Amino acid sequence: MKYVEKVLKNLKKQNPNEPEFHQAATEILTSLAPVIEKHPEYEAAGLLERFVEPERVILFRVPWVDDKGKVHVNKGYRVQFNSAIGPYKGGLRFHPSVNLSIIKFLGLEQILKNSLTGLPIGGGKGGSDFNPKGKSDREIMAFCQSFMTELYRHIGADTDVPAGDIGVGAREVGYLFGQYKRICNEHVGVITGRGLSYGGSLVRKQATGYGLAYITEEALKARGDSFKGKNVIVSGSGNVAIYACEKAQSLGAKVIAMYDSNGYIYDPDGIDLDIIKDIKEVKRGRIKEYAQRVEGSVYTEDCKGIWSIPCDIALPCATQNEIDKVSAELLVKNGVKYVAEGANMPSTLEAVEVFKSSGVVFLPGKAANAGGVATSALEMAQSSGRMFWSSEEVDAKLKDIMIKIYHNMDNAAKEYGYDGDYVLGANIAGFIKVAEAMMSQGVV
Ligand code: NDP
Repeated sequence: MKYVEKVLKNLKKQNPNEPEFHQAATEILTSLAPVIEKHPEYEAAGLLERFVEPERVILFRVPWVDDKGKVHVNKGYRVQFNSAIGPYKGGLRFHPSVNLSIIKFLGLEQILKNSLTGLPIGGGKGGSDFNPKGKSDREIMAFCQSFMTELYRHIGADTDVPAGDIGVGAREVGYLFGQYKRICNEHVGVITGRGLSYGGSLVRKQATGYGLAYITEEALKARGDSFKGKNVIVSGSGNVAIYACEKAQSLGAKVIAMYDSNGYIYDPDGIDLDIIKDIKEVKRGRIKEYAQRVEGSVYTEDCKGIWSIPCDIALPCATQNEIDKVSAELLVKNGVKYVAEGANMPSTLEAVEVFKSSGVVFLPGKAANAGGVATSALEMAQSSGRMFWSSEEVDAKLKDIMIKIYHNMDNAAKEYGYDGDYVLGANIAGFIKVAEAMMSQGVV
């Protein structure tokens, strides 16, 4: 049996009931096969076995009290996956679906994503099965303070630097940072996505969505095309979706549909993003309200239907496995030419196969959504240097990083004889640096 197959088989045996982790590991390891074949020394060094095993998994109790005085207990997670090229870095997700499998899949992806940015950051991820929906600000604060009361001892500006993800935005980052500072008595860049008044970076909020639009624009440009006049679907209506929509629109696209976890809106005249921001960012409301406010738009309960709308470009920006084989086939049938992932692993393995075999240009999340963590690393640089860069400076650096990521994965795919296969290109380009660092550091 080949090395990659052996490692995958063992991984599934040792980590049963972790389907998302198996899915991510299968995609990554399978596409790394050409590199592994070139480097027999990796097997002798047990490199892949170490690569798929987190350096540390922290699982803890998060007790908190709601507004009625009732005690709740949630699970808290931090997976410190790989620190070969820098301190662990990766977001915190608060969502009822969170479990160890999801955090491990996100952490594994994060290692390669962070390497792809070209910046010195290792891979980690964390979160909780806490559901922030419907909670008061005080309840959110109580939860965040309790979460940090355990997490603080495991993180640090040079050790592990969390950030936001689903359910963790500016409000949560503020409460988490406040509690860290209170316990440790130090004002350092220990979490990114901070507010501008206390060490945050300009453009961090927009970075993942903007970065997604920049890398998609580069893929379009490489084919003599652009966003101009294209019909685009952006799934989700959270942080990544809103700013992907904003930048795509500014580059000339018409975004015609978006969703939240209840249903989708279709606006043939193009989404009015100010209204979406008002509903989702200001009021924390439901997207359904858009159809009540904008004439000519339609709301449909159930998210999946969004993929039946004909479009040129699809930007899935909500969550894992939101595009399955059937949805992918529908998109292809209706003429989609580009799919770029704002979310982490939004396409199932079968959906990716459909895109690849149909000639769709497919940009995987670990490359396409790397703008968020890249800008987080820029926030870390500003914090440790006690500097504050202008929006223009940060935006220019972000754009430059996304363009480099595109060409690095494109070149890696070409070098290994898989021109246009960006899943393979991104995995290989990200892996090589991590593998070299791990080999240099001995068996650790
Ligand atoms: P947010 O919490 O801001 O937004 C998530 C959006 O997706 C919301 O509109 C939410 O709907 C929707 N959603 C969540 N779960 C589901 C579901 N099961 N079905 C349908 N819709 C769902 O999160 P982010 O925008 O920060 O993150 C979105 C994705 O991007 C995630 O995969 C995340 O890992 C990834 N990502 C985020 C980065 C960042 O910088 N924030 C960086 C890189 C990747 P509702 O409003 O109803 O909750």
